[in-house]
Amino acid sequence: MGSSLSSVATSSTENIVIVGAGASGIAVLLRLIEHAKNGKRIAPIIVVEKASPPGPGLAYSAACTGTILNMHTDTMGLYYNDPKHFTRWRSELSSGPFPSRSQYGEYLETMWSEILSQAQHMGLEISLIQDDVLDIDRHDDGTFALTLADGSHLSAQSVVLALGNFTSTLNTHLLDQPGFFPSPWPTSQLQSIPTDAPVLIIGSRLSAVDAALYLSKNGHTGPMTFMSRSGRLAKVQGEPEPFPRRYTLHTLARELESNPAEGLVKLTTTLMDEIDGVNNGDWTWIQKHASPKAELQADLCAAQEGNVHWQTVLRHTAPVIERYWHCLPLESQQLFMAKFFTPWMRYRHGMPVQNAQQILRLMESSQLSVIAGETVHWDDNEGIFIAQTTAGPIEAAYVIEATGQECHLDRIPSPLVQSAARKGLFTPHPMGGVDVDFDTLCASTPGLYTMGSLTRGTHFYVSAIDRTAAHAARIADALVGEPRARPLHIAIFLGSDVASHLMVSDLVPRLLAEGHMPFLFLTSSTETRPMAAPDSRPFDLRKLAFFERELFRKHLSPRLKEYGFKGTRHMTVWQMQSTYGVFVQEIPDSQGTSVAKMLQNHFIDVGISLPCGDVLTLGVIDYFSSSSHHLLSLDGGVLSTPSGNKKVGVQFGYTLRCLHEDSELGDVIDRRTSPLGHSAAILTGVDKEYALAVQIVLDATQLVTRGKSLRNVSWGRTSHTSRHSYLTAEELLQCCHDRGFDLVDGDSVVKMLVELFVPPEQREMLRKELDEVVQEWYVKQGVRVSKA
Ligand SMILES: Cc1cc2nc3c(=O)[nH]c(=O)nc-3n(C[C@H](O)[C@H](O)[C@H](O)COP(=O)(O)OP(=O)(O)OC[C@H]3O[C@@H](n4cnc5c(N)ncnc54)[C@H](O)[C@@H]3O)c2cc1C
Repeated sequence: MGSSLSSVATSSTENIVIVGAGASGIAVLLRLIEHAKNGKRIAPIIVVEKASPPGPGLAYSAACTGTILNMHTDTMGLYYNDPKHFTRWRSELSSGPFPSRSQYGEYLETMWSEILSQAQHMGLEISLIQDDVLDIDRHDDGTFALTLADGSHLSAQSVVLALGNFTSTLNTHLLDQPGFFPSPWPTSQLQSIPTDAPVLIIGSRLSAVDAALYLSKNGHTGPMTFMSRSGRLAKVQGEPEPFPRRYTLHTLARELESNPAEGLVKLTTTLMDEIDGVNNGDWTWIQKHASPKAELQADLCAAQEGNVHWQTVLRHTAPVIERYWHCLPLESQQLFMAKFFTPWMRYRHGMPVQNAQQILRLMESSQLSVIAGETVHWDDNEGIFIAQTTAGPIEAAYVIEATGQECHLDRIPSPLVQSAARKGLFTPHPMGGVDVDFDTLCASTPGLYTMGSLTRGTHFYVSAIDRTAAHAARIADALVGEPRARPLHIAIFLGSDVASHLMVSDLVPRLLAEGHMPFLFLTSSTETRPMAAPDSRPFDLRKLAFFERELFRKHLSPRLKEYGFKGTRHMTVWQMQSTYGVFVQEIPDSQGTSVAKMLQNHFIDVGISLPCGDVLTLGVIDYFSSSSHHLLSLDGGVLSTPSGNKKVGVQFGYTLRCLHEDSELGDVIDRRTSPLGHSAAILTGVDKEYALAVQIVLDATQLVTRGKSLRNVSWGRTSHTSRHSYLTAEELLQCCHDRGFDLVDGDSVVKMLVELFVPPEQREMLRKELDEVVQEWYVKQGVRVSKA
């Protein structure tokens, strides 16, 4: 045990102390670093970790050598808003989506080193003490005193207990027997088992699978038995698929929050309905097979053939399941734990295909069997363990308990946890672990935070890295006094212009990453101008309308829908619907009331009208007039701006207004501009300028999500005397004339559309198609264009 602090005893009470530098502690630190980068003042941080090196914790340390991750690599990033961070970090990808746990341990170690170097660079104080914290006390002034194994003390204003998982040992009556392993970890201890010995593994889910595979890799040839109450194995994970109705799971969270009484019924029926939908009414996957081996064969086959669509629904509950859980009444939570927890874990947390294949091989060679049973005792006379199972008594020389996590406070073998409970710093949660605030993870004692399996009673789903990262971010936010970011339902109204589509294609994944759910409303896709009426606008304006709107919406977008391209930089709303599972609805202009109903049904908090003009009918505006809703309107275009020598210059800009009852135009809450290039057609830079709008919208959402007022950042009421104003059509034409450039450069619009929305292999084909459409349009306009 050592310390990198010269004198621990003199530590300032302003400190933040983080106990545990596993994935949880590291994720808290990473988020604090982000806050520091954004200018937040962070108190000195002391990290206390008993194991060396910091980072891997239990799951990704040498204790779990020889096992692979059981969650897909794309969910394992340590940043709550960047789940693929680990995947990008990996240099070795040949092991596929479930690399070794030791590789993840290396990632954690690297993150720890990065934290230290970034902290040093920013002048942020982070110190490490390698010791075991045994005791915690709270002084009358609200500060904490921690006692370390070496007898030294630490003072702190805030303490984060990121202590990790405590494995459960239900068979305490076997603890003194030789050959009993109360947990499969560290795996290395299992090497002491003779390779031909019969082994009973209590449990049949992921830890049991890990234990059997570890033994097998170490040359075990003796019989192995999984014994569990159900006698059924965990299911097999298929490749992750998008869930096109993902938004329903978020709407369900809102429904449960607004009416928790019937929560469990609503929850189960909705999930079953969604599963029914993705599986086309086929429920054969849930049937019990003649034997666990037959079931595993069928499950493996289904996973490999991509025929496990039901998993898609369950997988997408990851960010919202804690909200479902949190609003269930206690009796429903108890009922769920008693009746549904085991099947939930079996279906929700399946094993990777690689593991399933190996388990099947062990079963096919009759080395491994899976049976139902509950009790095991030690027979003194025979000197052997005897398990009572549905297949009769089974004898084993060795027993490994692999039943999962321990969440009961009084059974957790941590002196620190026991100290906090004894001193009343923790309040036990009736569903296990300790009671913490849902949003901040603060325990019943202000300043004391905890996360991981200790918080299962409050959050239910606490162990996977995606939740670790989300919870760590909330703790770090609370430590810097940032209000919790509330997940928002955001309606985006967009028209047919290509700039709005670029914006929304950039916005949607970024809003989703922040935990929000976007709902997209498309205004009428048909041309409002009656076909018979001749278009009397000047040619340049007709050309602008064609290249800005019609070409994309009427010609390119339907083609992209037809081809179903993947992996492009930008997506159409239809591609986003199938990829991200966001709600997309086309709305004719007249349907304000039915739109308002949709907004209400989906619990929309914020409406954002992108520059499309005409959708904000009375019904929609009325919906947002409630004080808890916000309606934001974004305008964009070429602005006249004052420049040197009182000359009027032109810039491209966006203005965001917050609309409300007192003012038709609303309050301007943000306006940003960017220079217009002087060497090209005026609207050529649309693919760059939309980024400005995206940032404006994201910044406003950041305020709303944390309950901060938008009006505080107001530029003041809009007035007609505003120094910046958008150019009228005539001014725009005049501006083109003065500059000697076209309003729109058709060739570059076609090039841009193809590059942004079409994968490289299909670009040539789509470019030709669009060129033909353009030629036809020119012909209709009576214009001859010669192409170079
Ligand atoms: C065997 C196993 C396999 C898993 N596999 C996966 C997986 O594949 N994918 C996934 O998403 N999740 C997995 N999990 C869930 C896993 O718990 C989390 O992914 C993650 O490891 C949790 O991080 P943590 O920091 O909370 O806990 P840990 O990583 O265990 O870290 C806790 C740290 O706290 C330290 N500590 C504890 N008490 C004290 C004290 N009193 N004083 C000082 N230091 C202390 C410990 O030494 C440890 O380093 C697995 C869990 C286990 C147990």
